[in-house]
Amino acid sequence: MNEINACPYSKKCGGCMYSGVSYGEQLDIKNGLVRKYLGPVAKENGIKPEPVAGAADPLYYRNKVHSVFARTKKGQIVRGIYRRDSHEVIPVSGCLLENKKADAIIEKIKRLVPSFKYRIFDEDNGTGWLRHVLVRTGTCGGKEEIMVILVTSEVPFPGKNNFVKALRSAFPEITTIVQNINAKRTSMVLGERNIVVYGKGFIEDDSLGLRFRISPGSFFQINGPQTKKLYGLALEFAQLTGSETVLDAYCGTGTIGMFMSAGAKRVIGVELNPDAVRDARDNAKRNGIGNIEFICADATKYMLGDMPAGIDVLCMDPPRSGSTPEFIKAAAGLGIGRIVYVSCNPETLARDLKLFMKQGYRVKRLSPVDMFPLTDNLECCALLEIGRK
Ligand code: SAH
Repeated sequence: MNEINACPYSKKCGGCMYSGVSYGEQLDIKNGLVRKYLGPVAKENGIKPEPVAGAADPLYYRNKVHSVFARTKKGQIVRGIYRRDSHEVIPVSGCLLENKKADAIIEKIKRLVPSFKYRIFDEDNGTGWLRHVLVRTGTCGGKEEIMVILVTSEVPFPGKNNFVKALRSAFPEITTIVQNINAKRTSMVLGERNIVVYGKGFIEDDSLGLRFRISPGSFFQINGPQTKKLYGLALEFAQLTGSETVLDAYCGTGTIGMFMSAGAKRVIGVELNPDAVRDARDNAKRNGIGNIEFICADATKYMLGDMPAGIDVLCMDPPRSGSTPEFIKAAAGLGIGRIVYVSCNPETLARDLKLFMKQGYRVKRLSPVDMFPLTDNLECCALLEIGRK
């Protein structure tokens, strides 16, 4: 099943762990990780973790592709990625994870650069113009949408119109081009200012069933088909009947809560990052969802403080470090009957599930999803219920 060629850059790049490993073997390895981290918890609850849900296509899934531009000592233009923890650029083209068209667009830009005489940014002395190229892809109404973001050190964009023409005649699918200004000496890719060069300045994606606006800096899941599977599980586990109040903790841009809103009476999303909260509110409005609200707060503090009573279902999707013992105790103290835990780290998931068990919860299901084939990341959706055997 799905033989995968070894990537020539994999040793230097470190982006994919399983270059050259067939997809079947990758899933075996991940099932092994699930057994290792979650096996004991499953056993205690008298269940078995479900097999890892694999991707129909494990290659070229990233809808967000980034290349840093640099010159070699000999003056050759290269584009690629930073070596881990360094500023050395490893030339990479044809990455196995990245959307193929996005990769081809970046390659084309690399070929256009000399004819437009664009100066490549030099990180050591802070001179030059073109720093990074980012391409984000989506689909809306069955049509492809592609955003190209050129990160440059300053605003003047010589030959702008001709550049747009040249790029768009090679790739008419490009729907928008944005220039992002980043003059700082920083490892952050994007600066604060965006200038729309062509099109509307953002793309839209409705492939998950709702319509999301993706701006240059906004968060969006990078593997659409697998995200659909994961959110589908979260929705299934929530078992909504229309009368529930749902708390979506660590809600990011609000996607999970928005998918749940159609089946619930009311959804409250809690998120620490104010930019994500702004995007979440915006997305809810765009989709005409009236029964969801978003609170910008630390999830634990909110749980211990201002949270209204009467939460029927808690959905939580914390960062890799997991949740806190206080959060877990508070959820139990409020008598929340059903909890859907979406996790990107089986180790902290196991730790937190044990804390929930101490509070009287039983783990009913454990469903892992391979969101990031070729890498060692593993997502898992868990269902907990209070008291029931
Ligand atoms: N489900 C979300 C992604 C969640 S990622 C989505 O699909 O968009 C985890 C989120 O937890 C991030 O958005 C991060 O900003 C947020 N976060 C981290 N620590 C937090 C805390 N203490 N309280 C609330 N949110 C937190």
